[in-house]
Parts: sequence; structure tokens; C-alpha cells
Amino acid sequence: MSNWMKNLRRVEPYVPGEQPRSLEVVKLNTNENPYPPAPGVAEALHQMNTDTLRRYPAPDCGMLTAVLARRYGVAQNQVFVGVGSDDVLGMSFLTFFNSEKPILFPDISYAFYEVWADLLRIPYEKQPLDASLRLVREDYYKENGGIVFPNPNAPTSILEPLSFVEDIVSHNPDSVVIVDEAYIDFGGTSALPLIEKYDNLLVVQTFSKSRSLAGMRIGFALGSPALIQALNSVKNSYNSYTMSQAALETGTAALEDEAYFQETIGKITQTRQEAVQRLAALGFSGPAPMANFLFVTHESIPARELFAALREADIFVRYFDKPRIDNYLRITVGTPEQMEKLYTFLEDYMKH
Ligand code: PMP
Repeated sequence: MSNWMKNLRRVEPYVPGEQPRSLEVVKLNTNENPYPPAPGVAEALHQMNTDTLRRYPAPDCGMLTAVLARRYGVAQNQVFVGVGSDDVLGMSFLTFFNSEKPILFPDISYAFYEVWADLLRIPYEKQPLDASLRLVREDYYKENGGIVFPNPNAPTSILEPLSFVEDIVSHNPDSVVIVDEAYIDFGGTSALPLIEKYDNLLVVQTFSKSRSLAGMRIGFALGSPALIQALNSVKNSYNSYTMSQAALETGTAALEDEAYFQETIGKITQTRQEAVQRLAALGFSGPAPMANFLFVTHESIPARELFAALREADIFVRYFDKPRIDNYLRITVGTPEQMEKLYTFLEDYMKH
């Protein structure tokens, strides 16, 4: 082995869901939004003056943080933006989780937490979900170097109430608590109002799901000015120009169209409700979904088999070959037409 190889940082990367090239695929595997972004986004791109691309974008991303501050009723120095919430979360791990004590997160959750902790050599202890796949708040009352969990959780789609989040935050005044609200817009109550009361709470959200901008990569964090300043200091020690001009302009345009946002959310939650019933009629069950995806298990057919059969039929869903959840499928809520293709295939499959 060459000597340089000994010095490599050994990592076990996160494995994202498949991104097929074909647009024929019914793609229900990465929790993308099936509807296009707000019309203002296309307009912003068409009207973009390409001459501005000669220049670096504003390092403080002020255009976007100003609109976010207004939309969420906070001061501009309580807003941080990044290249998708993955960037915001990764930067937050680097900034806030710098203790010898282990950070805590659920054992069944967003798989990237463990990857960042390993990459950054942050000690961690995974806290098991209970038998009904719920977080147990008392597990997060022990000594720790920080806490992170999604609400709703992924891949279960289970939402915890605001009181649950507040209990965890109030028991941990000496740690930063990160609530990953990637899916909060699909019917949950955000922990955002709590940031005025707790200066150690960071709320992270994304434009990838509810605002149909996964391809543009925009995420943000809201928290006390002290947390945001710490994040900016670390960001500016790593890469000052994270957000492209296109991201700043399209993100702003998406945020300004509240009516379109509400309409899209309405359509997705309606389709989700129908999906619960249609899938139940086919023998599926699972926790009440509060994100833009369902987490379901079938009464007789193994999830692994269904996953493969669906894939063969160009219907992509997500399957996790992991203890306790290896008989579940995670199905993103698509358009009614896409969902109809899913039900039709399953109905057919059940007959054989
Ligand atoms: N958090 C959770 C729980 C997620 O499922 C995802 C999507 N993979 C993300 C964060 C990151 O999304 P993005 O970087 O597109 O904002």
C-alpha cells in the first residue's frame, strides 16, 4: 500500500436514493415534490442577468436571509442559509458538536447524522425508537454533547408535538438541540416560536421538499443570534460563497409566493390522505404520515419483494435493509396520477 493511502480519511458515505435519468419512472423514492416550483422561480431564472455571474455572490446571502426573516417573523441575524439543509446540518455539526460527550440522535432516523458524526469524529450514542417507532423523550435527558432529531422523523413520517420538542430543549440548557424540520410544512407545528425562549435551539428547514427546489440546493436554520453568528464564523472558515446567485434569486422568488406554496401543500396532504386509505385497502399499514411520504408494511408480502417488483415496473420507492425497518417501504407522495399507477400495479400484483 502506498504511504499516502495510510493518511486517507476513511469514511462510510451516505447513500442517496437512486436518480434515474428516464422521466418515465414513477419516482417515489427521494421525497421530492411532484409539482414544479412557484412560477416566479422560472421567471427569476429567465430574467437573470448573466453578466452578474462574473462576480461572486454576496457572501452574507442577505437577499435571501432578509426574505426568510420577514416570512418567519425573526430578525435577519437569526437566519443562516446553506446549500440544502444537508449543508446547514453538516455545518451545524461542525460548529456545535465539539464536546467529548456523545451527541444523541434516534437509531432509526436520517442516516446522514451518523455519517457526519463519523466524518467529524464526533462521539455519538443512538437512542432506540420504541416499539411503535416513536422517539422516547426521556432518552434525551442524559448528559450529552448535543442533540439532533428530525420532526417529523424520517423515514417513519411520525410527528411529535411541540411540547415534546420543548421538553427535550428545556432539559438540555447546556447543549445545542437541532430540530431538523425538513418535512414540517406538510402539517406539523414548527418549533420556531421556541427560539425566542431557548438560545440553544436551532430549527433547520429546506426548500427541497415543500418548495419544490431540491435541484437548487437551498436550506436554512433559524435560531438565536449567538447560534447564527457561530455558524457564520465556521462557514466563513470553510467556504464563504456557498449560495450561487441563481439559488439566492430563485429562493427569494419561491418564498414570495405564499399562495402557491399553500396550494401545493394542500394537494400533497390530500393525496397523502387518499394514499393511507388506498394502501390500507391493499393490506398495508403504518404510522400516521405527517411528512410527504408514507412508511408502510404489508400484512403478507415482504417489503423487499415488493420493492424489487415495483422497481422492475419502473416505480421507484425506498427500501432500507436495516434491523426493525426491513419490512417497510417508504413511499413519497406523488401526483394523483403517479399514485394511481402505484395502486394499479399493487392491485395487480396482489392477484397473483
Ligand atoms: N433532513 C432530512 C430528515 C431529510 O430527509 C433530508 C432529505 N434527504 C434532508 C435533511 C436534506 O435535504 P436537503 O439537503 O435537500 O435540504
